[in-house]
Amino acid sequence: LPGRKTSHKPDEQLKESLQPATPLSRRQDALLHTRKTLPIWPHADSIRSALRKNNILVLTGETGSGKSTQVPQFLASEPWCTKCIAITQPRRVAAISLARRVAEEMGSHFGRQSPAAKVGYCVRFDNATGPNTKIKFLTEGMLLQETLRDPTLQQYSAVVVDEVHERSVNVDLILGFLKNLVAGVEQGQKRKHPLKVVVMSATADVEALVRLFNNDSNSLDEKGSEAAETDDTDSEGSWSGISSDAESDHKDQSKKSKSQSKSNSKSKSKTSQVATCFVEGRQYPVKTTYLPEPTQDWVESALIRIFQINHREPLPGDILVFLTGQDTIESLEKLVNDYAEGQAKDVPKLLCLPLFAALPQHAQQLVFNPTPPRTRKVILATNIAETSVTVPGVRFVIDCGKSKIKQFRNRLGLETLLSKPISKSAAIQRQGRAGREAPGQCYRLYTEESYNDFDERTTPEILRCDLSHAILTMKARGVDEVVNFPFLDRPHREALEQALLQLLNLGCMSDTGSITELGLKVAKLPLTPALGRVLVEAARPERDCLSEAIDIISALSVEDVFLNLVTEERKEEAEAARRELYRREGDHMTLLVTVQRYAEEQSDRKAWCQRHFVSHRAMQNVMNIRKQLHSQSLSLLPPSSSSSSSSLTAHQPPSTLTETKAASLLRCLLRGFIANTARLMPDGSYKTLTGSQTVAIHPSSVLFGRKTEGIVFTEFVYTGKAWARGVSACQLDWMGEVVGELMGS
Ligand code: ADP
Repeated sequence: LPGRKTSHKPDEQLKESLQPATPLSRRQDALLHTRKTLPIWPHADSIRSALRKNNILVLTGETGSGKSTQVPQFLASEPWCTKCIAITQPRRVAAISLARRVAEEMGSHFGRQSPAAKVGYCVRFDNATGPNTKIKFLTEGMLLQETLRDPTLQQYSAVVVDEVHERSVNVDLILGFLKNLVAGVEQGQKRKHPLKVVVMSATADVEALVRLFNNDSNSLDEKGSEAAETDDTDSEGSWSGISSDAESDHKDQSKKSKSQSKSNSKSKSKTSQVATCFVEGRQYPVKTTYLPEPTQDWVESALIRIFQINHREPLPGDILVFLTGQDTIESLEKLVNDYAEGQAKDVPKLLCLPLFAALPQHAQQLVFNPTPPRTRKVILATNIAETSVTVPGVRFVIDCGKSKIKQFRNRLGLETLLSKPISKSAAIQRQGRAGREAPGQCYRLYTEESYNDFDERTTPEILRCDLSHAILTMKARGVDEVVNFPFLDRPHREALEQALLQLLNLGCMSDTGSITELGLKVAKLPLTPALGRVLVEAARPERDCLSEAIDIISALSVEDVFLNLVTEERKEEAEAARRELYRREGDHMTLLVTVQRYAEEQSDRKAWCQRHFVSHRAMQNVMNIRKQLHSQSLSLLPPSSSSSSSSLTAHQPPSTLTETKAASLLRCLLRGFIANTARLMPDGSYKTLTGSQTVAIHPSSVLFGRKTEGIVFTEFVYTGKAWARGVSACQLDWMGEVVGELMGS
């Protein structure tokens, strides 16, 4: 409540953990000053108070207001918080950088090296937590994996679900699971102490979230279960976070939610468990300009803008450029670096830093390093920097107005990554990044008319992506009737049916709709159901190619292994250098040979990569994933993989990638990707087996320009034309075998 004091003031908490001055505690002291200036700081007491009286808190506040870094620290020493606090993030980079930051703020060691570390993180293929971890940042996918092993999340006192506005499929699943868990509606799932749930969002759209959790109050009423006691005054109390001079937009939203919350409280008297809180953001004015005419070449437009800013604007003031993906980021990076060489001496140096999801951790972390003297950082990012990652020092934003989004085409049964115009709310988030620390400027590389045509909001992922992974996760978690799951937005029936069919085809689900043994194995692997199925197939004694399948899957799980080259003559040079890695079976065997050669290279792996135009950064990542997948596969697939498991340790030289082994691997790929196969038509085109969609082999494929009776591909790209990327040649007989198996099942 406003002005109400509790014994757990933030400063006192911090002092409790202070040791005699050490470098860590000195840094902690310095950061405390910054923390106190964050908009969320004055709300610490009301947040704590709300969670003492309620089990659920919906907290909204602008990006940068301090939600992710401060809320877990506010809660860590609460009397009810005897165990760990989990904070979910949609992306790896955010989980890791937040953990590092919070460790610094708490004066704690960080990472797996130190058993004393109070802050840790857990992301796919990397668990940096220890026995004393009190605050754990983890990706949404990892929390979902944990719910398989520990359905009632006994190891946690609280789960903080961050970045809910991004509405990833995983966040929608987490919210549904938590709602069920808090309500105790799942079979016998009792916890000794109630789980506290904080749902955090950067947009003030709280109604749906409150409704989702408040429905429980109804079911609890009917079932007579225990609910946290709260009354009108208490719910009111949790509203202390509303700033009295809030901007009208937020104020309206807040009022709406407030009145709704009040009516909820009244109608359900003492049973409402949901408190809500609104934190006013801090935003300096941002001057925004549009292009007078639309452009097709926004990479060039961005390049021109970067140099204009660098010549005209004083330091400090870093530039954040929003692009669509790795390909455009790398093209622009190369252009900026080339042109920067010709800059006059008195102009600030430009330091280009890419930031996209598939980039390895150490490369992602570079954006957080302080800008060197007389230098301007140019961060080339995907929408990863829209809300999840706050990069300090940014004053200029350049926004291309597009992002790559997943789109599932129900009729074809294919998921594709499309470059599409962003929504107005995404454009506003991007613009806001320029005004976090001082007045800023935003250059939109599109016209004002185009902006007016943008959708208001981004469609939640669950309404547009392949749902097979989500449904397998639900089934493995005991949700049999998927239609009864508490979705924030109910997925389309057609998409649900497609996903169920896909799981049936993969053998992950029986025709009565229950999960199979094989499905459970696949669900435990940190892979899509299709890739998981490939791995399980590869472990079968008659296939005996688990180790090689892991190599291929690891290479498919990272950014492009082969460097994208801008100029034609370099392309030819690369072609010649890479020829020794190429396999006529196609891209997957070529990836395998690349991974094997790299792994065998003892002397200088970096030089090897340079010689072969291979990304060293990507290969380091491949090696890491490969190691993790080896250990996970050994524990998951032991009975049938005894012969393969021996080959996991003793790697065979590439020359032994025999045709038989390659054929075995291709048949495994087919088992997982039968929906992504196409056959050669008499007119030379390829048509998919299931949807009769015409696809062409992507120019990046080693099979580009070749004809083969059938192909299997691991990626479908649509850029005006339908492309198959990551392509291998396969025999029609093999396809027939899989189809026969499916017809028989
Ligand atoms: P929110 O969750 O509301 O978006 P955060 O808690 O992530 O806000 O960030 C609050 C502030 O903490 C940021 O404005 C930034 O100044 C600082 N911060 C967060 N993460 C880092 C980091 N990894 N490195 C440096 N500063 C950071």
